[in-house]
Amino acid sequence: RGLLSCCVCCWQTILVGDSGVGKTSLLVQFDQGKFIPGSFSATVGICFTNKVVTVDNVKVKLQMWDTAGQERFRSVTHAYYRDAHALLLLYDITSKSSFDNIRAWLTEIHEYAQRDVVIMLLGNKADMASERVIRRDEGEKLAREYSVPFMETSAKTGVNVDLAFIAVAKELKHRA
Ligand code: GDP
Ligand code: MG
Repeated sequence: RGLLSCCVCCWQTILVGDSGVGKTSLLVQFDQGKFIPGSFSATVGICFTNKVVTVDNVKVKLQMWDTAGQERFRSVTHAYYRDAHALLLLYDITSKSSFDNIRAWLTEIHEYAQRDVVIMLLGNKADMASERVIRRDEGEKLAREYSVPFMETSAKTGVNVDLAFIAVAKELKHRA
């Protein structure tokens, strides 16, 4: 269709957060529309997936980078942050430590990422209601404090996964 123009820009989006919060699973769910149970920690290095999404009739390409294993603080290279246009910052709603570490991740992001980087906070594993330890309003409160949008997602059921990536793409497009 004539209305659809192909955008030449390719936005680098990276997923960050403690090991085990579901970064790889979220990426697989967004990319392939399925949940592959089990940890992906055996994967070595940093890999990326390209995905074209349509925002306001314009196709934009998201190049999404995922860190595999060793996601401890400081292990993510500064270059990785520096080149990022957007960051999906994840915690696991069943893990208090992953939530508590969000502040440290944000400190690191503010130190190394570009000033205008698009950040979105995600509380993942929303399907695990019976094991929840972080209430939704706690996530919302933290997000408000840092003025970033927030959603709860599930890489397992797919809830809000597409919405989260599309919201990021929209924000990138509006800022471009
Ligand atoms: P990463 O280390 O952040 O990349 O986390 P993984 O994607 O490897 O996921 C860690 C573990 O959590 C794996 O066993 C996944 O199957 C599981 N997991 C990830 N996301 C979800 C989710 O939304 N719901 C549930 N129930 N399990 C999840
Ligand atoms: Mg991973």
